[in-house]
Amino acid sequence: MSADIYIYMQVCKYFLEAVEKKQYGWFWVCPNGGKDCHYRHALPPGYVLKSQMKALLDEEAEKISIEEEIENQVMTNLLS
Ligand SMILES: [Zn+2]
Repeated sequence: MSADIYIYMQVCKYFLEAVEKKQYGWFWVCPNGGKDCHYRHALPPGYVLKSQMKALLDEEAEKISIEEEIENQVMTNLLS
């Protein structure tokens, strides 16, 4: 098992859920026993939230479509 996966498994799923739903903050109390919860209430390094992931993918898709458009224009110019 790689260290990354190990760290990931240590992270509290309630914490992840709260971050994902933007509910995490000063007043957030872990439903798994609050301060007694033994899991980590911190994101592992390099962790990408599902919500962030979607934004990244959208951005990427946008870039590709712009590139395609430029390519199409070049092709049209070459052909005309
Ligand atoms: Zn917890």
